[in-house]
Amino acid sequence: MLKSTMELSDSFGRIAKKLRISVTDRCNMRCVYCMPHNNTSWLNQKNILAFDQITSLARIFASLGIEKIKITGGEPLVRDNIRSLISSLSSIEGIISISMTTNGLLLKDKLTGLKEAGLDSINISLDTFDHRRFKLMSGIDGLDTVMSSIKLAVSQNIRVKINTVIMRGWNDDEISEFVKFSKKMGCPVKFIEFMPLDGTRIWSENLVVSEDEMIKKINNNFGKLSPLDNDKADPARLYRFNEGNATIGFIPTITKPFCQDCDRVRITADGKLHTCLFEKENYDLKALLDQGKSNEDIREYIRKCVMEKPEGIIKIIRTHSLKPGLNNMHTIGG
Ligand code: SAM
Ligand code: SF4
Repeated sequence: MLKSTMELSDSFGRIAKKLRISVTDRCNMRCVYCMPHNNTSWLNQKNILAFDQITSLARIFASLGIEKIKITGGEPLVRDNIRSLISSLSSIEGIISISMTTNGLLLKDKLTGLKEAGLDSINISLDTFDHRRFKLMSGIDGLDTVMSSIKLAVSQNIRVKINTVIMRGWNDDEISEFVKFSKKMGCPVKFIEFMPLDGTRIWSENLVVSEDEMIKKINNNFGKLSPLDNDKADPARLYRFNEGNATIGFIPTITKPFCQDCDRVRITADGKLHTCLFEKENYDLKALLDQGKSNEDIREYIRKCVMEKPEGIIKIIRTHSLKPGLNNMHTIGG
């Protein structure tokens, strides 16, 4: 395997190892915590990175020490032929894992192809087990479809995790149901604190259910959770139950931000590099590709941009600057 001689380090000493690629800002759902319900102005199709451009960029990132890629969106599976992109990305030297985050609506028919192309793990988002609530939270009557995608994925030889955004008054009464589901299906649920990346601008601290609050609820119903030895760079803090092998995780971005261990950078569907999920500042990599800049020039540019990576949400919290809509999750991709 090619061992990169260069690193993507920033001024806080963090080294990027993971790249999240948003392949589209479009989506077939309208989640209440993510997508603006009206007046969504989509990226112009002519500004969207072609698959060969994404692959070229991924190759450059791999030469800079990136080892893991996550494909996201919008909804990645609304883009045609994602399978061929996965196939190209999985042949890049130095890339050791390719995963995807999806809402699961279109997964059933595509899963086998994605796996064959080299996808090795998948996160499927699910926020409720109630049909009426599913429609309220996502705008779509799709619970049965997503459930059958999850069941299919679990039955295949691929790592599956469930992403669950918990919002006070919306679905926090279902935490125990999710734990039971996780145990039954044998796949970890990751409970995510609601972040101010909402196109709907409804975020408020009152809607955030903290990791501590969720753990208290789970401890009361299922016995004390024990923390697992976490990979510090993994935003999910993992726990196991006293009995059985089941694990669950939390992404406590708001109440226990993990910026000091962040090893991620992101590119949007129109080729903008974002070094932090919560900052609007971005760098136009597509423009460099379109101008025919050399890989060496693009590599140097990326290194400079990453060196400027801001401290993160930890600073936004410290300076009391949290507010709704800090960024649009559906363009950056989580
Ligand atoms: N459409 C795909 C999906 O929903 O899984 C992939 C893109 S989505 C932006 C990636 C993840 O971000 C999903 O698990 C979603 O639940 C999560 N997410 C979206 N908006 C969020 C927010 N405001 N706070 C926390 N998580 C959010
Ligand atoms: Fe679409 Fe995913 Fe955002 Fe929901 S969270 S609106 S499925 S991009």
